[in-house]
Amino acid sequence: MALYRDDAVVLRTHKLGEADRIVVLLARGRGKVRAVAKGVRRTKSKFGSRLEPGTVIQIQLYEGRNLDTVTQVHRTEAPPEARTDLAHYGRLTVLLEIIDSVTVEGESNPALFKLLTGAIRELGRRPNPMIVPAFTMRLLALEGVQPSFDRCVRCGSTDGIASVNLTEGGVICRTCPATGERLTESVLDVFRSLADGRVREVLDDTPVAVQHDVESLAGRMVEQYLERRLKTSSVLYQHLQA
Ligand SMILES: [Zn+2]
Repeated sequence: MALYRDDAVVLRTHKLGEADRIVVLLARGRGKVRAVAKGVRRTKSKFGSRLEPGTVIQIQLYEGRNLDTVTQVHRTEAPPEARTDLAHYGRLTVLLEIIDSVTVEGESNPALFKLLTGAIRELGRRPNPMIVPAFTMRLLALEGVQPSFDRCVRCGSTDGIASVNLTEGGVICRTCPATGERLTESVLDVFRSLADGRVREVLDDTPVAVQHDVESLAGRMVEQYLERRLKTSSVLYQHLQA
């Protein structure tokens, strides 16, 4: 059995038996890893507290046949000071859940690791509600499914954009038959900036009045993407079973 080290973020953990925990990680090199951390629920455990969700760690594991075993953990960054602020804690949880849903074990994706650690770091700096939408748009871009906010998905017009239709993958102009949900100019501006990679600008300058709409649209975008993935994989599964 081989020993390996990696940088990782703890996505979630759950209890196993009397004293152990299953830890689900996103590792820089290995991608998603499920491992067992033995004895971590005992008070004497030397690394139990370092395995809180959202913690960035350096970890050493033994490769197992089914499950790897954690042998060492160094905490490199504590999770953002989130326990005291529910909205803030909610945002961290959303980031971790999204990553958990889009990854499968055994697929390395260093870009995703970088995106997640960057967002966690940003959350630690300030409780900015635009961090999750910025993360979401970048994630969809990495997955190759970012909606188009540039031009109408039906006629290509860049002017008079009035609604967004996520099923069609983007925005629709005023002259095309409206089937999407209404999109205000200010919300559109934010999404165009995010699509252009002007993240700093969005974090610093998005008016509070617009933030809620941006957050909820970004949330629906990622939900829709996850649903579609789920359907695709269940269809695939049925094919494999047939
Ligand atoms: Zn149009």
